[in-house]
Amino acid sequence: MSVTVRFAPSPTGRLHLGNARTALLNWCFARKRGGRFVLRFDDTDRARSRAEYAEGIAADLDWLGIRPDAVVRQSQRLDRYAEAAERLKASGRLYPCYETEAELERSRRLARAAHRPPVYDRAALKLTAADRVRLEAEGRLPHWRFLLESGRAAWDDLVRGPQEIDLANLSDPVVIREDGTPLYSFTSVVDDAELGITHVIRGEDHVTNTAAQLGMFAALGAPAPAFGHHNLLVAASGAGLSKREGSLSLGMLREEGFEPQAVAALATLTGSAEAVRPVADLDELTALVDLARLSRAPAHIDEAELAGVNAKIVHELPFAAVSSRFAAWQVGGDRGEPFWLAVRGNCGRVADARAWWEVVAGEIAPSPADSALAAAALTLLPAAPWDAATWRAWTGSVGAATGRRGRDLYHPLRLALTGRDSGPELAALLPLIGPERARRRLSAAAQAARS
Ligand code: GLU
Repeated sequence: MSVTVRFAPSPTGRLHLGNARTALLNWCFARKRGGRFVLRFDDTDRARSRAEYAEGIAADLDWLGIRPDAVVRQSQRLDRYAEAAERLKASGRLYPCYETEAELERSRRLARAAHRPPVYDRAALKLTAADRVRLEAEGRLPHWRFLLESGRAAWDDLVRGPQEIDLANLSDPVVIREDGTPLYSFTSVVDDAELGITHVIRGEDHVTNTAAQLGMFAALGAPAPAFGHHNLLVAASGAGLSKREGSLSLGMLREEGFEPQAVAALATLTGSAEAVRPVADLDELTALVDLARLSRAPAHIDEAELAGVNAKIVHELPFAAVSSRFAAWQVGGDRGEPFWLAVRGNCGRVADARAWWEVVAGEIAPSPADSALAAAALTLLPAAPWDAATWRAWTGSVGAATGRRGRDLYHPLRLALTGRDSGPELAALLPLIGPERARRRLSAAAQAARS
């Protein structure tokens, strides 16, 4: 059986790390099985859905490395939902209800006061044709509920194992509003059936929806997909993530300079049996992701872990992965590649390279100098051209001339040449700094009063 999954965001905001978890778990699941990934925009809520959010979500996914095989918009499939609704009305599985929200709230309150679950009492099922005429004459319009079966909904969850939910504890879900617009729980089933979705992988906040939706697949005569409900990502404080507040949004993380592979690793491996670790790309992540190895507890995001994983990824990034950023920042020039290879091990984020480029090619701030050593080193500077062996040869002769060794030799030279206490290997930096700049910096240090 060929696998087809879908990621179904409502375009009411940009994606956050928790949405990325759902998208990536679907992506990795499909990739591992040579399957398809459908991006479905659940945009039937006209008031809250916005085209620019849909574009932003597609861009967020692209940044992560997710390339959907198909994009579907629910707003363009309204005729499909209407047709399916007619079929269910004809078979008696959708029934009209006329209660107002205030009336429903009152019954829920009464039920709770009587220690009964606040489940819809199906009063509308008893309405006669005459009752309906009277209600509609009062100006009431029906909303429609899906009649759940009695008994239990059961499925073997890809994450949680065997599940059973007693349908008596659920209200018949409203699937069509008074204004005739269909609701997500229903449109999702129509789409999953018609688009041939084989596996629905989503957050565990949808477990009860699944119980009701399994009945809708059966009522529509469609085979139900397999379901997997993953644990949700929560902030370190335990608070849930929200698309609207922009907390830990992918856009923000990207702006802060985190690499997509780091964000993807954090989003998927947090709260699983695999430690969060650096990955080179989503294929490598795919090999690590296994729905059956997700924890059942909420997955706490550790932002320090993101910084650590990001740094490890950055330390290994090839120049090709950063060259366009370098071009935009005017960093590296024609020495971009050797420069990047020299400094990447000292960068927690790629943008840290900008400060190192200043060290190599800009002006450095004067720092406390060891003027005697700088003067000796200046006179011993080798002739150009310089290469990776120059540093060793030069410091060898400076050491021999001054009797300095180890830190007493290297540290003052590093300070004089870079203005920094620590940093990338000087063997790699020195040829990038070049004879002219090195000479200038050493003479400044040689002339400075010894501190
Ligand atoms: N639009 C729904 C949501 O974002 C989709 C849930 C689902 O995957 O079925 O929660």
